[in-house]
Amino acid sequence: MSEKSRESAASASILVWFRDDLRVADHPALAEAVRSKRPVIALYVLDDTSGLRPLGGAARWWLAGSLRALAKSLKERGASLVLRRGNAADIVAKLADEHKVSAVHWNRRYDAGAAHDDALAERLAQKNIAVRTFQATLLHEPPVLGKSGQPLSVFTPFWRTAQAKGAPRTPLSAPRKIESVSGIASDNLDDWELEPTAPDWATEMDETWTRGEIGAQQRLGEFLDEELSGYATQRDRPDLPGTSRLSPHLRFGEVSPFQVWHAAQLAAHADRGKRPRASDAEKFLSELGWREFCYHLLQRYPDIAARNIDRRFDRFPWRKDVKALDAWQKGETGYPIVDAGMRQLWRTGWMHNRVRMVVASFLVKHLLIDWRLGEQWFWDTLVDADPANNPASWQWVAGCGADAAPYFRVFNPMLQAEKFDPRDDYVRTFVPEANGAGGLFGKSYPEPIVDHRAARERALQAFASLRS
Ligand SMILES: Cc1cc2nc3c(=O)[nH]c(=O)nc-3n(C[C@H](O)[C@H](O)[C@H](O)COP(=O)(O)OP(=O)(O)OC[C@H]3O[C@@H](n4cnc5c(N)ncnc54)[C@H](O)[C@@H]3O)c2cc1C
Repeated sequence: MSEKSRESAASASILVWFRDDLRVADHPALAEAVRSKRPVIALYVLDDTSGLRPLGGAARWWLAGSLRALAKSLKERGASLVLRRGNAADIVAKLADEHKVSAVHWNRRYDAGAAHDDALAERLAQKNIAVRTFQATLLHEPPVLGKSGQPLSVFTPFWRTAQAKGAPRTPLSAPRKIESVSGIASDNLDDWELEPTAPDWATEMDETWTRGEIGAQQRLGEFLDEELSGYATQRDRPDLPGTSRLSPHLRFGEVSPFQVWHAAQLAAHADRGKRPRASDAEKFLSELGWREFCYHLLQRYPDIAARNIDRRFDRFPWRKDVKALDAWQKGETGYPIVDAGMRQLWRTGWMHNRVRMVVASFLVKHLLIDWRLGEQWFWDTLVDADPANNPASWQWVAGCGADAAPYFRVFNPMLQAEKFDPRDDYVRTFVPEANGAGGLFGKSYPEPIVDHRAARERALQAFASLRS
């Protein structure tokens, strides 16, 4: 290589492709580009064309805020965020070519997009563009295998094996300054129309959440100071602020699991805030473990949102009942805890985990409606709609997933409410008909759309038919 070409290679820029990692701290792909002292092109592509699952409505709303926040923090460091819309692989390859970049960096993903990434890497290699990929989204990349090399389909051995690999690496700090390539055309975020205008169904979501990396860090800090202590006992209570509500932040990578893991460990041993017990931190970290488990399942079953993991369920006698599905979606089933959950989801884009289990069980078991229809509704309405956690959890509830809940476990919505919302505080917040005077529920509240005992019997029969 001549002195001159070596010089130009040294100053050639690096394209950093952001995906589900919308942060500047603990972002190995960005950190490595900055470390190389080359100018950076920071890119995000909205891709509804590649056959990958397009984001649902609530997630698109979240994405807008997250990208706005990322653009701002890149700008503060001297870089601009280039926004493009279309086929991501084509856009990355074209930009890399036009700007003669020496390398493209991205953090790895684990859904069907991973195969697209491999194909793109080959395409770039043919043009002598280096591709460097990094681990950023999972503490333990798949596969985590058992002793005899088998994939682990049960959570407890999975998490035990993953943890035995040792403590996750420490998080990287955010670069202070980013040298950037300027003058690259970018779309205008508002033109993407990710946020609703008329009607604006996101008002309460706006009041509930602070999208972006700073919001994620604030939430993490508050959770560790205030709520980690008692997490193990209170995490099942939807009427209390007992969980971290970090899920949309983790979904969009505004905070990394490495940051959460280390911060939780520190909080568990530090003398600040309310002192959590070791069991609180352990339980909380095991929920991150469930997230890891779901991603391992996604990698193993890329069509997890469409196909039963347990193929016996392919012949399950699901009912087609548009009216019942509609009542469930609107929170008008006549079961207060179910309706409160579905209305919390609609209004805030989020639902407490215990209630997610109750409403999902209700759809699948009381109404015998295909879990995929519930999964799709969640996909469209959750701000944390996650390609791994959502379908894996639905399959778990339906009984067709890995390590699934047994089919004969049919939640009784009344008992669930008594146990986990003992003063009806949660129900009252989201079901305004609950007026507390005389009978708890006012007249306009619908009658139950199914009788619990009859529905339970019907479900047990339907599920038992699979075993014969
Ligand atoms: C039917 C159903 C659908 C679900 N869909 C999603 C989804 O689309 N996106 C999503 O992030 N979670 C989903 N979950 C899992 C869980 O309900 C949420 O992650 C949790 O309620 C988020 O609240 P939190 O951040 O306060 O959780 P915390 O209790 O504070 O847990 C911390 C983090 O661990 C992860 N986590 C917690 N519980 C689970 C779990 N059971 N499975 C996988 N990861 C978990 C999340 O990233 C969460 O933010 C679903 C659960 C059910 C039963």
